Parts: sequence; C-alpha cells; structure tokens
Amino acid sequence: MAVLPLTVLGHPILRQATTPVTVVTDELRRLADDMIDTMRAADGVGLAAPQVGRSERLCVVEVGETLLTLFNPEIIAREGKIKWEEGCLSIPDVFGWVERSAQVTVRALDRDGTPFEVTGTELLGVCLQHEIDHLDGKLFIDHLSFLKRRSAMADWDEQKGKYPNQIRVLPAAPATTVAHGEHDHDQRL
Ligand SMILES: [Zn+2]
Repeated sequence: MAVLPLTVLGHPILRQATTPVTVVTDELRRLADDMIDTMRAADGVGLAAPQVGRSERLCVVEVGETLLTLFNPEIIAREGKIKWEEGCLSIPDVFGWVERSAQVTVRALDRDGTPFEVTGTELLGVCLQHEIDHLDGKLFIDHLSFLKRRSAMADWDEQKGKYPNQIRVLPAAPATTVAHGEHDHDQRL
C-alpha cells in the first residue's frame, strides 16, 4: 500500500486513452489498493489510472459508504441531466459547473475480474462519469463553454507552477480531517 504521486494538467498521459485490462492480476489489485490510498490521502472521491501515470482502464471511487474498484468501466445507461460544480485532483484549485447525466449505470469488472453493474446519481453518478472520462483522455474542463474554460485556464495558470514536471506529490498521511461539506463544490474527483 502506498500513496502515489499524481499527474496534473499538462502531463501527456492525462490526454491518452487507456487500454482495457484483459486479466485482473495481483499486480493490478495492488495498483488499485495504492490508488485507493492515494485517493484518500488527497481527500478525493475518485481516481483514475492516468492520474497516477498508468494507462490501464481502471478507476476507483469512494462516495459515502460506497467503495468501488472498476476495471474496464463502461456507461451502459444514462438518464436525465444534472449540473454539478466539479474540480479534479489533477487540476487543483480549479472549478467549473459541468452538465452531466443525472443517473448512470456502469458495467465493469471487480477486483476478482467478475462483471458487475452499479447505478449512481448525484455525487456518485457525477464521479463515475468524471472518472470514466479520464479513462478516455477527457477532463472536466473539456465540458466547459469557451469562456468558462478560458477562465478556468487562467486560474490554472496561477497554480501550475506549484507542480514541476506536472507531478503533484501528496503527504503520506491524509491531510488532517478537513470536514466534508466545508466546500460547497467538489474538488475531489
Ligand atoms: Zn479528475
């Protein structure tokens, strides 16, 4: 178990599509465990493999009591629309309102390589869509209008100098419990 460094905006792997996993090996289970550690250290609710410099089609999600490891996730059903203020562990301190499907059903393989389906709404639904976007080389800023995206990029220009070589190193222990709900937006995807 380990906390991994995160890639941030500008790192090329964040723009590359991932490769489906053919067999869930012990090495990939360890990677998933490390991604869960990393997500928690960053006080996040989701993390995708490219955010730790890997190209497997794998993400982890933790919303409330729901902890999911998803290999090869695909959205198989969508319903309705919702607007959510999103952020991203790979674009720290930048936020934007994104229109998403209000409810999604995702099919994936679990840690044992067994297919399962999960349906999510609100934060869980948004998080699933945000992480699966990562696996297709997409970021939440891609969903913003031209002007909102330009404003988000101006915010990022003030932040990016903190991350040499597009790498964000997290403290090993979770930052002292920042109360969830302190922010009125979600920066933790
Ligand atoms: Zn993200």
